[in-house]
Amino acid sequence: MSSELIQKKVIGPVIIITAPSGSGKTTLVKHLLSQFPSINFSVSATTRAKRPMEEDGKDYHFITSEKFLHLREEGLFAEWEEVYPNQFYGTLYSELTKIWERGNIVLFDVDVLGALALKNKFNTDALSIFIKTPSLDILRERLKKRLTETEESLQKRISKAEEEISYAQSFDIVLVNDVLEDAQKQIVDIINHFMTQLKHTWKHDATNL
Ligand code: ADP
Ligand code: 5GP
Repeated sequence: MSSELIQKKVIGPVIIITAPSGSGKTTLVKHLLSQFPSINFSVSATTRAKRPMEEDGKDYHFITSEKFLHLREEGLFAEWEEVYPNQFYGTLYSELTKIWERGNIVLFDVDVLGALALKNKFNTDALSIFIKTPSLDILRERLKKRLTETEESLQKRISKAEEEISYAQSFDIVLVNDVLEDAQKQIVDIINHFMTQLKHTWKHDATNL
């Protein structure tokens, strides 16, 4: 835990969304953000190239590998992973404090290993959701349709997906993203249920992190 968070003792609820790339995480996360103003997205830092539709500072903080290494050495990441060879992604503590200080809930969109790390770190007031497609063939189709991958990166994502699916049962909820409207409704119901269960007092004890 960063010394800044321990000093300030600012810790709040988190929602962790994870899935193999192409399963519909971004689509469902955007839907949730449009429905729940008190849920704020934790903008990760990444060394991967920006896609045409993405916005720096909103979708990701796009940074160089040098800058990533520097932030890592400074201990500024709550978690980080080399999600694909030479493509680093990490959650900055500064994103979390910013959201919790507003009294809001943090929403993470991270890979499976990152999600497991965050689940262990913020084990109280955390909800973790694993999203999957009905099949690997459908995952491949959706990745192709998204037109963001080369044949090589598509292959990398599919083989990683097979391994990631084996962790699905480690999360609180497994949601199958088949018909989009159904999945959107289901995830909104899940979050409403989580929010009614949340005690509306922020944690004041960081010692278990
Ligand atoms: P991820 O963030 O997990 O990589 P995306 O949200 O980018 O996944 O979704 C991958 C592609 O699949 C996008 O083109 C998206 O529009 C499409 N998609 C998402 N959910 C569905 C669905 N239920 N049915 C059909 N296409 C979908
Ligand atoms: P993409 O390149 O498709 O945006 O994301 C690739 C993968 O990296 C996705 O599974 C996404 O959830 C994950 N990811 C994004 N940000 C982070 C992060 O901060 N930490 C970790 N561990 N994974 C992340």
